[in-house]
Amino acid sequence: IDTSPGTDYQSVLEEIADEIGALPGRGRSADYIPALACADPRSFGMALADVDGNVHGVGEWRTPFSTQSITKVFTLALVLARDGADLWEHVGREPSGNPFNSLVQLEYEHGIPRNPFINAGALVVTDRLQSLTGDASEDLLAFLRTESGNPDIGFDLEVAASESAHGDRNAALAHFMASYGNIRHPVPTLLDHYFRQCSIEMSCADLALATGFLARHGLLADGSRLLSRSEAKQINAVMMTCGTYDAAGNFAYRVGLPGKSGVGGGIVAVVPGRCTLCVWSPGLDERGNSVAGVAALDRFTTLTGLSVF
Ligand code: GLU
Repeated sequence: IDTSPGTDYQSVLEEIADEIGALPGRGRSADYIPALACADPRSFGMALADVDGNVHGVGEWRTPFSTQSITKVFTLALVLARDGADLWEHVGREPSGNPFNSLVQLEYEHGIPRNPFINAGALVVTDRLQSLTGDASEDLLAFLRTESGNPDIGFDLEVAASESAHGDRNAALAHFMASYGNIRHPVPTLLDHYFRQCSIEMSCADLALATGFLARHGLLADGSRLLSRSEAKQINAVMMTCGTYDAAGNFAYRVGLPGKSGVGGGIVAVVPGRCTLCVWSPGLDERGNSVAGVAALDRFTTLTGLSVF
């Protein structure tokens, strides 16, 4: 772990917030469910947590928002921690180049999703977490509360119900994979956990802290080990190549950090050995990534020189 002092993170974040304030276009909030459509695309918050748990932030960095696909990082970590590499027999680790909810690659890959961050792959991971814990969404919630130090984090049951009401595509993905034997639980049970998982509300500060184990090479906030150093590297690598939908190449090019976005407008990013970041702004580009979020992380790595390259 690189604990060398140097960067004045708070000043860097303030400079970024000023620049983002002048950004002309912000994209559009996700509109596939009403609960997300009402988010203001101009909201902006950003937080940074160093490996010792010190947090800096700007804008609406303490405002809870819908974490959505960012939670896929944590379910992946919890399954790898408990079940090891067996997971990779059931889900790949190649970028899909297709939208997050795409069905097209599943048939010719025999029900094995391309990676754990597209919806199909995340459903496989949550299904396995359910086998390992008996209550996947509660297990995830407990983990997030502990690592962020915030016991008030919870599900937004209105968002979960809305996801369920508009959940035909995810149901189709799950049933299709079940036909290949790659889903173990009844699809309605799995979807219930998956939609609750996606509905968890957290702030930028919460998410930056909860992602800390990926900057600490697998060590949790209390110093105990969740993942081996190698497993932490693997998750960071899959975030880098697959974490921002079908725009992961452009994210790597602009930001140069492992990152995971969600359609709620959040993005987490990891500087291994050093710090984690979370930025939130609900306006999305056509690939589903936060416009201001990607711009802010792009500026962060440019201003600090902190990227993995
Ligand atoms: N709950 C969303 C879905 O599965 C997650 C979308 C996302 O953040 O990528 O459709």
